[in-house]
Amino acid sequence: MNIVILLGAPGSGKGTIASRLAAEDTNLKHVSSGDLLRGAVAKGTPAGVEAKGYMEKGALVPDALIAQMIKDVIAETEGDVTMLLDGFPRNVAQAKILEETGAPIRSAVLVDVPDSIIAGRIAGRRTCPKCKAGYHVVSLPPKVEGICDHCGTALTIRKDDNPDTVNDRLVVYHRETEPLIQFYKDKGLLKTIDGDQGPDKNAAAFKAAM
Ligand code: ADP
Ligand code: ZN
Repeated sequence: MNIVILLGAPGSGKGTIASRLAAEDTNLKHVSSGDLLRGAVAKGTPAGVEAKGYMEKGALVPDALIAQMIKDVIAETEGDVTMLLDGFPRNVAQAKILEETGAPIRSAVLVDVPDSIIAGRIAGRRTCPKCKAGYHVVSLPPKVEGICDHCGTALTIRKDDNPDTVNDRLVVYHRETEPLIQFYKDKGLLKTIDGDQGPDKNAAAFKAAM
């Protein structure tokens, strides 16, 4: 098992890239911290109950809470698998926790997208609550409006995708997560791709970089 970390702002397209690559290669496993947390909230587990308020505000949940979930996934992942770790680590403390697990990090790939286009991307974002497929009303519309192509479920808008919360999430990104770019650069692990090339080219560029 080894790990490729996806770095990038909310709305940079990390999740779309990771789920596409994992769908076409069984040796790749997409692990999204946001999906793990939303799953825990939906199930009402103790971790989910604790995380809910932070997530709705666009704040980070406590490091120990999300770190434990990620450690559990790492522990249960065996064999010749590359984990595409999307949304974790999100600050330097979490990056150090990840190092302490001893799991080998292959690279950290920054999906680079200017803030100026993030807001529009997030405003049009739609998600399938069942299979987690992501869509966008303009750039990646489903075949039938409002319905998931893969499983026919009605698409939803994430609670934290409203403009105020998006703004808070971007502030948190610049303050907490952006320092990880230098952190991984110093370790010689950083790669950067242009995240504004459209979903197919983004995924191909990511695959080549990782
Ligand atoms: P996005 O990247 O679009 O902001 P995510 O689905 O990755 O969305 O995360 C949604 C929310 O889940 C975050 O705003 C935060 O509250 C919480 N979260 C996800 N990953 C982490 C993490 N590693 N540390 C702390 N909070 C997290
Ligand atoms: Zn679906």
